Amino acid sequence: MKTKLVLTATLTFVTMSMFAQSNDGRIPAKGFAVFEEKGHFLPYNFSRHAVGDNDIQIEILYAGICHSDLHHVFADWGAEEYPMVPGHEIAGRVVATGKNVTRFKVGDYAGIGCMIGSCRHCDACEHDLEQYCEEGAIMTYHGIDRFNDNEHTQGGYSDTYVVAEDFAIKIPENADITKVAPLLCAGITSYSPIRQAGVKSGDKVGIAGFGGLGHMGVQYAVSLGAEVTVFDITEEKREDAMRMGASRYVNINNPEDLKGLDRTFDFILSTIPAQYDMTMYMKMLKLDGQFGIVGLPAFRNMPSLTVADLIFQGARKVFGSQIGGIKETQEMLDYSVEHNIYPEVEVIKANGEEIDKAYQNVLDGKVKFRYVIDMRTMK
Ligand code: NDP
Ligand code: ZN
Repeated sequence: MKTKLVLTATLTFVTMSMFAQSNDGRIPAKGFAVFEEKGHFLPYNFSRHAVGDNDIQIEILYAGICHSDLHHVFADWGAEEYPMVPGHEIAGRVVATGKNVTRFKVGDYAGIGCMIGSCRHCDACEHDLEQYCEEGAIMTYHGIDRFNDNEHTQGGYSDTYVVAEDFAIKIPENADITKVAPLLCAGITSYSPIRQAGVKSGDKVGIAGFGGLGHMGVQYAVSLGAEVTVFDITEEKREDAMRMGASRYVNINNPEDLKGLDRTFDFILSTIPAQYDMTMYMKMLKLDGQFGIVGLPAFRNMPSLTVADLIFQGARKVFGSQIGGIKETQEMLDYSVEHNIYPEVEVIKANGEEIDKAYQNVLDGKVKFRYVIDMRTMK
């Protein structure tokens, strides 16, 4: 107890010296931004809104690099605003709390995923599906925070974040903190559709795209007792898939690997970030099988299913899924820590060159399986 009190006091002191407030209470922040489409990462100083009564301030320890960050930097999903600090896989420590905050205290671990606010009263919000908020979920970056003077949100490749406690995730003290950040997007985005599909022991599950999301999906499906087949475009991840508990690996560029798979799967999850043949996966579903889609390629390069696919492959279901609600994200995190399910991460230093290099490696398929930036190494 005594140690804890000392730790808290120390952290409060650190907070006051590290994250000074300006006169209007705004908190100076620094991080890495791109200043144009496909730009390089450069240091960027900005500020975040003051810690409100219901907010917590987090010192960011680790930030994951999600392929969605690349899609944003490359303007794959439409026009962006600059400067842009990406990052929606955030793990850190609480350094300040508003007076109404009850779930967090200074010194606790806390995480932030893809969203930081929603209306809280629409049908979606009332069903714990804030990501589908009728008034629009507020995204962690590339968002407009209508509850804080329409502030343009900036993400986790930075030193600090201020967030409403209801949108922060509690990270258990026994979690492996270097690996937690990617759970807040890659983890929940693969966990949620696997749960929605009702995957259970003995089911035959396919995971298409074996990267950040895919390798989490494999681990969740295996943990539920499913027999898992991994689909990817390279030979290089075959052994990794088997090590993570998959029973089969399909290199879709190898015609031999694809034989005998039609009508064999109860559920297939696609995390593929590029153009691909969706019909092929539809044909692999059993009657009553389900196809869950989370991979979101560039709008100019979008794969599609035709009406004919849906009719001739009838008696199967197709659904898309966006991250997961806050309640489910907490459930996923607790489940992951309890079952020792973590991403495989490569920790990099917080500097522009390292982040640029990491982006290139993701594009070139050279990452196993998620880059995480150690934000404390920022100079
Ligand atoms: P990664 O780049 O880490 O992983 C993608 C994987 O797919 C890589 O292993 C890649 O191989 C593989 N791949 C590429 N093309 C094919 C193909 N034709 N067939 C099979 N595998 C293929 O990306 P993430 O896992 O971070 O993200 C995946 C997608 O999910 C992105 O589009 C991202 O924006 C989206 N996403 C969606 C969310 C949602 O809420 N729905 C949330 C988060 C992300 P290689 O490495 O060899 O290129
Ligand atoms: Zn993401």
